[in-house]
Amino acid sequence: MAVAENWKEKSSELDYRHQAFINNDYVDAASGATFDCVSPVDGQVLTQVASCDAEDIDRAVRAARAAFESGAWADLAVAKRKRVLLKFADLISDHADELALLETLDMGKPISSSRGGDIPGVAGSVRWFAEAIDKIYDEIGPSDGKGLGLITREPLGVVGAVVPWNFPLLMAAWKFAPALAAGNSIIIKPAEQSPLTALRVAELAAEAGLPAGVFNVVPGFGETAGQALGRHMDVNALAFTGSTEVGKLFLKYSGESNMKMVSLECGGKSPNIIMEDTEDLDVAAREAAMGIFYNSGQVCVAASRLLVHENIRESFLEKVAEFGATMEPGDPLDNATQQGSMVDENQMNRVLQYIDKGKSEGAKLAMGGSQVRQNSGGYYIEPTIFDQVSNDMTIAQEEIFGPVLSTITFKDPEEALKIANDTIYGLRANVWTSNVNTAHKMAKALKAGTVNINTTDGGDITMPFGGFKQSGFGRDNSLHAIDKYCQLKSTYIRIT
Ligand code: NAD
Repeated sequence: MAVAENWKEKSSELDYRHQAFINNDYVDAASGATFDCVSPVDGQVLTQVASCDAEDIDRAVRAARAAFESGAWADLAVAKRKRVLLKFADLISDHADELALLETLDMGKPISSSRGGDIPGVAGSVRWFAEAIDKIYDEIGPSDGKGLGLITREPLGVVGAVVPWNFPLLMAAWKFAPALAAGNSIIIKPAEQSPLTALRVAELAAEAGLPAGVFNVVPGFGETAGQALGRHMDVNALAFTGSTEVGKLFLKYSGESNMKMVSLECGGKSPNIIMEDTEDLDVAAREAAMGIFYNSGQVCVAASRLLVHENIRESFLEKVAEFGATMEPGDPLDNATQQGSMVDENQMNRVLQYIDKGKSEGAKLAMGGSQVRQNSGGYYIEPTIFDQVSNDMTIAQEEIFGPVLSTITFKDPEEALKIANDTIYGLRANVWTSNVNTAHKMAKALKAGTVNINTTDGGDITMPFGGFKQSGFGRDNSLHAIDKYCQLKSTYIRIT
């Protein structure tokens, strides 16, 4: 597709891939079952997608296993693997308009985000791991003089990836890019709310030259297809991104099947701490608003708890509300829109229930709180701010996954830290201060996989991404991500 100015017109030209992609072929579910793929932009059905279950997962695992054992990908010289992956990245970039449009229609996020953030991020991920793979060396252990100890990395074999709907293709790419670079075969189970981009990108993988069976996409529901992948006896590793509740199930599936390696990127309830000495409160307020309203708050690292020093609470909250008001939901297909729809009606209702809960538990609704754009047929919620929240309230403890900010005050850094760490999650924390000592001390004391100082949006693909506590374990991004998709082999060679 050429650069699209009129996204609505372009959407009528789309050809939705709706079958599973197994062994480089599009196939129906063995049962013939399908489910409606509904666009949250306007509530209309886009297509019927194959509703796969255990039989289809088994078929994909067999294809992935055969591809792996053939060595067609795993044993390919790394320079050749790199070339194929670079071509794959180029094809994703060439189809960026089409993929961005699919993502927006399927998931409801603004086209400016999918075209400007998600899809370039997917191509960037594939490119980064392609470039990395021929620069990673194996090791030789310190010798005892009588032999040679080789420590080599080997791909695991068949990797399952079960991913969520908030950044559908990007979260899949964070798994498939390092897994493929390391030489594995992969089976992706996209979220039932957003399967379209993974299904489309599969044929680009084949076009780039990935051998049959190396890249498979099996759409379906969590309890059927997701569980079958988690329990399959011939899957070596399962990489999951999604809720903490479902993450725990994958540990159980592994324990009850073949002890496959599990890595979990789960939920968050990130604190955004605004100290009294913050240098630029305008910047901090704009990022506080972006940090919770971007992607309609459907972000695992969303800065959902605003911890603000009591002396600046009132003026700071006014500024956050001012920026928040510029992020009213609009038509996701309009280039100017900054906030789109919630992913589906369920998620909208879930968020509205949390807003009711906040009110009933005594928090003060300072802004928003309602569904808007009902006439569109979609599921839009306005930017919402609660003031006078205490950290034991439900809206401060549970992951809402919507555009809802909970404001809590503190008196000193010790109290801020205590509140910040008082959660089951530990994905990200942000601190705003002009004092380097405060910044350093708090960064060390915060129990989170990522700490940002003076931003809510730090880090890129060069930095490990993942959680402490019940936000999971294992890291996406950076060279550390490759560790999840390899195992170490020690080979000792006696020299005589
Ligand atoms: P979810 O846990 O409901 O679903 C995630 C995936 O798991 C989907 O593919 C779903 O089909 C599958 N699934 C659901 N039930 C299952 C079951 N019983 N067995 C097997 N698979 C099952 O999460 P979601 O609602 O799609 O996404 C939102 C969640 O994802 C939030 O909690 C968010 O914080 C988290 N998330 C985390 C990160 C991160 O990197 N830490 C990134 C994005 C999203």
